[in-house]
Amino acid sequence: MTTSNAARIRGVAASPGVAHGPWVRFERKAHVSRAVVTDPEAEIARLMAAAEAVGRASDHLADEVRAAGHADEAEVFSAHAMIARDPDLLDAAAGRIRADGANAIAAISAAATSVADQLRGLGDALLAGRAADIIDVGDRVARELSGLTGPDMRLVEPSIVVAEDLPPSLTATLPRDRLLGIALEASSPTAHAAILARAYGIPAVVGATGLLAMLDAAGRGSPLALDGESGEILVAPTREDLARYETRARAIQRDRSRDADEATLPVVTTDGTTIELLANLGSPSEAAGAVASGARGVGLFRTEFLFLERSSPPSEDEQADAYGQVVAAFAPHPVTIRLLDVGGDKPIPYLPLKDEDNPFLGVRALRLADRRPDIFVTQLRACFRAAVKGRVKVMAPMVADAADAATFRLLVDRARAELVAEGQRIGEVDLGVMLEIPSAILVADTYLHELRFVSLGTNDLLQYTLAADRGNAALERYRDSLHPALLQLIRLAVESADRSRIELSVCGEMAGDPEAALLLVGLGVRQLSASPSSLAAVRRAVRAAARSDLERIAMSSLRDASAADVRLRLRT
Ligand code: PEP
Ligand code: MG
Repeated sequence: MTTSNAARIRGVAASPGVAHGPWVRFERKAHVSRAVVTDPEAEIARLMAAAEAVGRASDHLADEVRAAGHADEAEVFSAHAMIARDPDLLDAAAGRIRADGANAIAAISAAATSVADQLRGLGDALLAGRAADIIDVGDRVARELSGLTGPDMRLVEPSIVVAEDLPPSLTATLPRDRLLGIALEASSPTAHAAILARAYGIPAVVGATGLLAMLDAAGRGSPLALDGESGEILVAPTREDLARYETRARAIQRDRSRDADEATLPVVTTDGTTIELLANLGSPSEAAGAVASGARGVGLFRTEFLFLERSSPPSEDEQADAYGQVVAAFAPHPVTIRLLDVGGDKPIPYLPLKDEDNPFLGVRALRLADRRPDIFVTQLRACFRAAVKGRVKVMAPMVADAADAATFRLLVDRARAELVAEGQRIGEVDLGVMLEIPSAILVADTYLHELRFVSLGTNDLLQYTLAADRGNAALERYRDSLHPALLQLIRLAVESADRSRIELSVCGEMAGDPEAALLLVGLGVRQLSASPSSLAAVRRAVRAAARSDLERIAMSSLRDASAADVRLRLRT
């Protein structure tokens, strides 16, 4: 059915591709129970048994997803099994049963909601995404307690699934041959629903405010169309809209095969300068796609993912295994593993930190090393062990000066000495730091000679240079990576790296924007690391440009007054 007028919503693009068809709404069932508890200890025993049943079922689901060839997605459900058995969550629920006389269903639902709310309130998209996992597990324990088991939703015909948010357990178990797309009112591209959608190649749009009300108004029979690249959702698309979507689908298909064909092309400017394109990854599951996109290594492996949604840090073995997978996938090309970048605004439950007034200016990343050197030493030990599988580079985040770089090297020395004393097999690793704090660039000559490489984290560098919180929507005007102040710092960094004869790359989002990437080449950057999906466009841009032109434009742009002036200069 088509109508004469579609309702349009602009959400956040979460997984590329277009889809259209009927929609099915997933709704979390409320598991309310007013049962009065007469024997709190017996109720707690019931809760524990249900939680263990969910833990076992999650282990089973992890095995199934793994057997289907998605080993890394399976980790989500292994993490769910851990959440179901998390003593803190269960103690909180048991406390509600003992103190308030709540029944087990109400107690686990309230305990899970409270933890999820805390995560959402931290203002961090990644942690907010993890809230869905806690709610998912809490729901499943509540369902188990009420005797409701089995899937919440069946797709009888190929459909787009719509929801406020989608529990990861459901996302992974929906029949993929009938799942056309996913449209979520809430959630973010870094939440597990989106991560799984990308891993399975299902088009998805998230953060589509107003979607559910619009669907209610349109009625059950009206179809839906979504574009996972632009973030557009159409309720009741017209015949013309559908024709446009079909054209888009064909174009996406053509683009993908062209990108795949071009993935092996050398990335060389028209006047012969070679640029290395590397991938930014957040989990080992992205490695295969990144290799296929032509990445010649990993310029940034964000390890935070491995540490979230669990009640204790991943063991050294787990980390060595995860890093080893990525290293083996890219060998002989290098994989740059970044040490944990949490703390401040990105707390993790098993790392109790003090509340801070300015978390972005607080105890974040390497600054945690004073209090918890063990976390970094374990991580470094895992890196040395993974290095027997290929080339490993290790990078410290949030380095401000030579003293921070020295702290990093001490941690590395300790990890290496321990492994050698134990007679473990280790490989060599190159050491480097992120340049994402202006001071680290201004005094770079005092410590770069002790390192093998540096990588510019332009996301944080922009935030700290312009004093503009990277998550504050009201400061959009300052968040332009073509700002001449940022360009001047980048140029200083390139000159310092040249003087110390060490490698320099850019791994902030700027490197994945074709226009900004060209300016980086003009400023002297020869390695760009970006999300695998951005590499094709950057490759095309570099292959069409002359380095001599880019240098002239970039050097002039250092004296411009604004990002807008730089953009104009680039385009004209
Ligand atoms: C950066 O700051 O540019 C960066 C690459 O790191 P993150 O975005 O993870 O802080
Ligand atoms: Mg950063």
